[in-house]
Amino acid sequence: MSQAEHLSPRVALYPGSFDPVHNGHLHIIRRAAKLFDRVVVAVAANPHKNPLFTLEERLELLRETLRADGNVEAITFGGLTVDNAKKLGAGVIIRGLRLVSDFESELLLDMHNRRLEPSVETLYMMPEKEYIYFNSSFVKQIARLDVPRLEGYVPDCVFRRLLEKFPPARGA
Ligand code: ADP
Repeated sequence: MSQAEHLSPRVALYPGSFDPVHNGHLHIIRRAAKLFDRVVVAVAANPHKNPLFTLEERLELLRETLRADGNVEAITFGGLTVDNAKKLGAGVIIRGLRLVSDFESELLLDMHNRRLEPSVETLYMMPEKEYIYFNSSFVKQIARLDVPRLEGYVPDCVFRRLLEKFPPARGA
C-alpha cells in the first residue's frame, strides 16, 4: 500500500506561526472541527521568523485555549508541511483566506505543496467579517502599545501572557 493510501480525508492539519493564537485562528479551528474527525493545529518552528513567543510558549497557549475542544490537538513541527501531513495521516491542509492580499502567497504555497505531495489537498476557509482583519502582527503591535485594548482579539490566556510581557505603565 502506498503512503498516500494511509491519508485520511477526515483528518486535517492547520499549520501556522500562531505568534500568538488569536480569535481569528480560533474561529477557523472551531469551524474545521465540525467538518473533520480530527484537527491537528501545528505550530511551525520557522527559524527565519523572529517570534515574540517561543515555540513552546505558542504551543502551550494553543493547548490551554483548546483544552475543551475534544477533536482538536496542538503540536509543533519542523520541515515541510506536506511531509508532516503525511506523517500524521492528514489528507487535508487547512488555510485561512482573509483579504485579497493573502491570495497570492496562498496560491504559490498551494502550487508548491501540490507539486511536493499531490495526494494532500488544501482547503481554504474564509472568516466571518468580524475576524477578517485579525492577524498576529497587529495583535503584537497593539500589545506593545496598550495590551488592555486587545479585549476580544485574543483568548484570555494570551491576553494575560501579553500583559505580563508588556505591563501597562503605572499611572497611565
Ligand atoms: P497570522 O497571519 O495571523 O500571523 P499564521 O501564520 O499563524 O497567522 O496563520 C495560520 C493560518 O491562519 C493561515 O492560513 C492564515 O491565513 C490563517 N489566519 C490567520 N488569521 C486569520 C483570520 N483572521 N481569519 C482567517 N484565517 C486566518
